[in-house]
Amino acid sequence: MTTQHAFQAEVAQLLHLVTHSLYSNKDIFLRELVSNASDACDKLRFEALNDAALYENAPNLEVRVAFDKDAKTLTITDNGIGMSEQEAIDHLGTIAKSGTKDFMSRLSGDQKKDAQLIGQFGVGFYSGFIVADKITVESRRAGLAPEAGVRWVSGGSGDFETETITRTERGTSVILHLRDDASEYLNRWKLKTIIGKYSDHISLPILMQKEEWDKDKGEYVLQADWEAINSASALWTRAKKDISEEQYTEFYKNISYDSEAPLSWSHNRVEGSTEYTQLLYIPAKAPHDLWNRDKKAGVKLYVKRVFIMDDAEALMPSYLRWVKGVIDSADLPLNVSRELLQESRDVKAIREGNTRRVLAMLEDLAKKDKLPAQAGEGADGVTDVLSAEEKAEAEKMVGKYSAFYAEFGAVLKEGLGEDFGNRERIAKLLRFASTQSDTVSVSLADYKARMKEGQEAIYYITADTLAAARNSPQLEVFRKKGIEVLLMTDRVDEWALSFLHEFDGSPLQSVAKGAVDLGKLQDEEEKKAAEQAAETFKPVLDRLKDSLKDRAKDVRATSRLVDSPACLVVEDGDYSMQLARMLKQAGQKAPEVQPILEVNPEHPLVKKLDGHVQFDDLAHILFDQALLAEGGLPEDPAAYVKRVNALLV
Ligand code: ADP
Repeated sequence: MTTQHAFQAEVAQLLHLVTHSLYSNKDIFLRELVSNASDACDKLRFEALNDAALYENAPNLEVRVAFDKDAKTLTITDNGIGMSEQEAIDHLGTIAKSGTKDFMSRLSGDQKKDAQLIGQFGVGFYSGFIVADKITVESRRAGLAPEAGVRWVSGGSGDFETETITRTERGTSVILHLRDDASEYLNRWKLKTIIGKYSDHISLPILMQKEEWDKDKGEYVLQADWEAINSASALWTRAKKDISEEQYTEFYKNISYDSEAPLSWSHNRVEGSTEYTQLLYIPAKAPHDLWNRDKKAGVKLYVKRVFIMDDAEALMPSYLRWVKGVIDSADLPLNVSRELLQESRDVKAIREGNTRRVLAMLEDLAKKDKLPAQAGEGADGVTDVLSAEEKAEAEKMVGKYSAFYAEFGAVLKEGLGEDFGNRERIAKLLRFASTQSDTVSVSLADYKARMKEGQEAIYYITADTLAAARNSPQLEVFRKKGIEVLLMTDRVDEWALSFLHEFDGSPLQSVAKGAVDLGKLQDEEEKKAAEQAAETFKPVLDRLKDSLKDRAKDVRATSRLVDSPACLVVEDGDYSMQLARMLKQAGQKAPEVQPILEVNPEHPLVKKLDGHVQFDDLAHILFDQALLAEGGLPEDPAAYVKRVNALLV
C-alpha cells in the first residue's frame, strides 16, 4: 500500500530551482549522493560503538555505484545506517539542515543569480533531480527487521509516495531514473572520473563493476566482480607528499560547503603526550553567519578515523571559529561526548596545538603579504635575488593576508579578550587604517617603527566610520605635529583594545580619552603657554562649568585642538561616547557617560565667550557642536536649532 505525501514548501521551491537551473554543473549530484552514502556509513559506525549488533554480521562498509544502460538507471547503494519509513518521510521530504535553509533565504528570485548561488552550494539529496526525472529510494534501517524496509518514490514535483517493502540488506539504494539528456552517466569511465575528482578522499571503498571489452559485441561489457575506484583512505591519513593541491582543495570544499578555494592549509601529525592528526584550512571568504558567536566551530572530530562529530567547538577557541578542518585523535575514547570534550586534558592540548598552528599560518601569510623589499634594488629588484620559481611562488602569496584580514580581522580581535596566552601574537597580526594610511594595513610594529622621537604612546581613535575618525577634532594637534594615529572603526575595537594595554613596551592611548598628554612631544614653551592660557581663562571655564553642569562632567582648556573650538572626551577607563551609543542602540544597558568638554582658548569663538550677553546659549551650542562633530546628536535638537537661530538673527 502506498501513501502519498506532499513536500514541505521549501523543498518544492528547491526542487524547482534544482531542475531548472543546474544544467551547467550537473556532475555535482554524484558528489552529493556519494557523500550522503558515506555519511550514512559513518553514522552506522558511530551507533555501532554502543551496539555492535547493528552490523548484522556485515561490518565492511562500502558504497556501490552501478548503472543499467537498458533501464537507464544509475544506482548508488550503501550499507550504512539506512532509514525507517518515518525517517525517509521526514528526511527526504523536508529541509532539516539549517545551512540549506539559510541558503534558501538568500535566494533572490532572480533565476540567473540564484542558479549561480545554487551551483556553489551543495543541495544534497535533491540534486539527484538534476539528472533524474524520477528517483526511487529503497532503504532499511540497521537493526530493524527485513520487513520494515521502505520504498520512497518521487518525480521531483510537489509530492512523493512511500510504501513498506521487504529488504534483506541494511542500508540505502538511491535509484536515479535518468532523463534522456543525462545518458552520459551510463558510462563507467565518466562516473569514475567524477568520483575521482570529487570523492577520492572518502574513506570507504567506492565500488564499481569491472568492465571488459567484448570482441563479438564490439563494446565494453560489465563483469560480475566489483573493484574499488577510489583510494579509500581518509585524505588526512595519507602522507602530505601523496596529496595534490587539488585534492586538498576539493576536500576543503567538501567539508566546508564553500565553493571557493581556501587561502591556506596546514596538515600535520602531532606527536607527544597527545597524538593526533590535524588538517586545518583558512577560508578565503567569511560565512554569512560569522558574527553569530553561538555558531559552532568548523572542525570535525574523528577518533582513530571514526567520525565522532561536526562542529567540535572544544577544539578551537571562539575567535578562530571560522577555521575549517579535521582533527583525528588517537587518544580520545570513541564514545566521547560534547560534555566530556569540555573537560578532557587531551582536548585542551589539541585546542592549544590548533591555536598555535592557526596563528603560525596567519603569521606566515602576513609575512608574505608583500613582496620582500630588497635593499638597494629597483622596483623590480626581486628578480635579481629570487629565482624565477621563487618569485612566482612569492607573487602567489601577495595580498592573501590582506584578503584574509578584510574578511576575518574583526573576529581575530576577539582573541585579545579571549586568549590571554597568545595576546602578543594576536596583537602582531592586527592591521589598522591610520592617519598615514587609507588602507587597513598598518601593523602595530609598523606604527612603532614610525613613532616620532620622544613619542611614548601608540595613539588611536575609535569611531563609527573611517571618515568620522579621520575628521575628528581630537586629531588636530596630532596632525599638526605629524604624529600618526590609528583609526579604528570595527565594532569590537574598543572592547578588544581594552585588553591590550601595551604593545612592545609602548602603552596604547585613545586620543579621545583622558587629558591629552603628549609627554616629551610637547616642548617647554608650549606647555608654559598652555598653563598660562588656562590660568587667564579660568573665569570663563568656571562659567562654562556652571552653564553645563547637567551635561559635562568637567570643562577644561586643551592644547589638543587647532581648528576646532571644542571637543568632548571621556575619562580614562570610561566607555567612549561612541561605545555607549552603540550599546544603547543595541538595547543593552550602558553606563551613563558624562563627557568632559575641552575648549580651545585660541579659537575666536571661544575668545568671544568672555562677557558675551548670550553666554549660556553659546555654552550649549559649543557643547552640542562638539557632540555633533564626534558623531552624536544633541539630546534636544530643537533647542539646539533655536539657540543657533537666535544667534544668526
Ligand atoms: P544533508 O546535507 O543533511 O545530507 P540531504 O538532503 O542530502 O541533506 O539529506 C537529507 C537527509 O536524508 C540526511 O540528513 C539523512 O538523514 C537522510 N539521507 C540521505 N541520504 C541517505 C542515505 N544514503 N542513507 C541514510 N540516510 C540518508
